[in-house]
Amino acid sequence: TVRTRIAPSPTGFLHLGTARTALYSWAYARHHGGQFVLRIEDTDVARSTQESVEQILQSMHWLGLGYDEGPIYQMQRLDRYQQVIDQMLANGTAYRCYCTPEELDAMREAQKARGEKTGYDGRWRPAPGKTLPPVPEGVKPVVRFANPLDGAVTWDDLVKGPITIANKEIDDLIIQRTDGVPTYNFAVVVDDWDMQISHVFRGDEHINNTPWQINIYRALGAELPQFGHLPVILGDDGTKLSKRRGAVAVSNYEEMGYLPEAMLNYLARLGWSHGDEELFTMEQMVSWFDGSHLSKSPSQWDAAKLAWVNAHYVKHADNARLADLVVKHFKARGIEVAAERLLVPCGLFKDRCNTTVELADHLTMYVADVQAPEAELAEKVTDAVKPAVAAFAARLADAALAWEPAAINQALKDTLAEFGLKMPALAIPVRLLVCGRAQTPSVDAVLAAFDRAVVVQRLQKV
Ligand code: GLU
Repeated sequence: TVRTRIAPSPTGFLHLGTARTALYSWAYARHHGGQFVLRIEDTDVARSTQESVEQILQSMHWLGLGYDEGPIYQMQRLDRYQQVIDQMLANGTAYRCYCTPEELDAMREAQKARGEKTGYDGRWRPAPGKTLPPVPEGVKPVVRFANPLDGAVTWDDLVKGPITIANKEIDDLIIQRTDGVPTYNFAVVVDDWDMQISHVFRGDEHINNTPWQINIYRALGAELPQFGHLPVILGDDGTKLSKRRGAVAVSNYEEMGYLPEAMLNYLARLGWSHGDEELFTMEQMVSWFDGSHLSKSPSQWDAAKLAWVNAHYVKHADNARLADLVVKHFKARGIEVAAERLLVPCGLFKDRCNTTVELADHLTMYVADVQAPEAELAEKVTDAVKPAVAAFAARLADAALAWEPAAINQALKDTLAEFGLKMPALAIPVRLLVCGRAQTPSVDAVLAAFDRAVVVQRLQKV
C-alpha cells in the first residue's frame, strides 16, 4: 500500500514549500487509497520549539491536509534509534569516532591545503589489519556510518529521473552525536522504515542526502521507498523564495486574507499540472494526482496568479463564512462587529476583491465612519445638488418607506424627477457621503445593507 509522509522540522512556521510537499504527499496517498503520516523531526533540540510545532499543526489543519497517523515526534523515539545504532555497532556497519572538533578542523585544513575534497578521512573506521588510534580520555565519541567504499548509489527519482552518485564521493556520516541524539539522515531512515513509508516526496535540497540514506537502508536490510525530489520554489526575482523577500509562512497567507482552498489550488499548480486546468477542487486533484506531470525545473512564485485564484474562491464562498473571516480582520483592527451584520454586505462586495482583507476594507463603511477625500466631496457634492441630497434623505427618513432596495430605488427616482437630475448626479454624491467613495455596487442595495438611521445621518451632513 502507498504510505507517504511529511516530516517538518519544528524550527519555524510551515513554509510554503513544505506545504506544497505535504499537499503532493497527501494527494498521492489519497489517490492510491493509502495513508499519509505527519512526523515532527525535532532532533535539532536547540532550534526546535513547541510553538513551532503548534504553528505547523495549525497550518496543516487550516489547509485541511488531514493525516492518518501522527504527529509522531522523533525525540520520543530515542530508544528505538539507540537499538538500531547498537545493532549497527555490533555488525560493523557503524563505528565510534573519537575525533575532537579541533582534529576535524585540522583534517579539513590539511585536505584544503593539498587541494583535496574535504570530508572525514575514516581514521576511526575499523578495517582488517588496521590499528586504530588509542581511545583518548575524556572524549565522548560520535557514531559514524561505515559507508560502502566502492560502487555507486543509483535510484530512479520520481521527479528527476535516474540519479547516480559514486560512493567514493561520500564520507562516513555521523549518525549519532556525542549527546546520543541521532542525526537527520539516520533518524529519517529508521522512521521511514518503521512507518513503512513507500514514497518519499521532499525538496530537492535533500538530493545530496539520499545516497547516504539509501546506503543506510541497505545496511539495515530495509526495503527502499521511492524518492521524489521536488524543485525549489523561486521568488519573483528568480532567487529561492525566502523570508527576506516576502511572506513564506502558510499562516501569513491566512492573515492576509487568503482562503485555504485557494492556497491548495495554487500550490498544486506550482510544479504540477493536469492539462490546462487552473481552477479545481481537491477531489479533482486527488483523482488526477498519480505522480506524473511533476515539473523537473523550479517553479516561480506568482503573487498575481495566487491573487487571481483567491479572488475566484472568495467570489464563490458562502457569505456566512466570509462574514466570519471579515469579523476576524476587523477584530485585528480593533473593531468589534457581529457577523450577521456583514452577511448582506459580503454578498454585495465579494466579487470585487482578491482577499478577505480587501473585503474588510470594502466593508469598513458598514462598521466605522468613513470620509471621502475633501477634494472629491467639493467637486461632486455641489451647492446645486445639496437640496436634492437633503430631499432624498428626508424620503429615506420616512418610516413609511420600506427599508429595502426597491423602495430605496423608488425614493432615488422620485428625487431625481423632483430636481430634474440624472442618476449619477445624485448617486455619486450619495455614495461619497454614505460610503466614502464614488464606486460601489448598486447604490440601492448598498444603502439597504446599512441601518436606515446611519444612512440618513450621513446624508444629512450636507
Ligand atoms: N525534516 C526535514 C526537512 O524539514 C525532512 C526532509 C525529508 O522529508 O526527509 O527538510
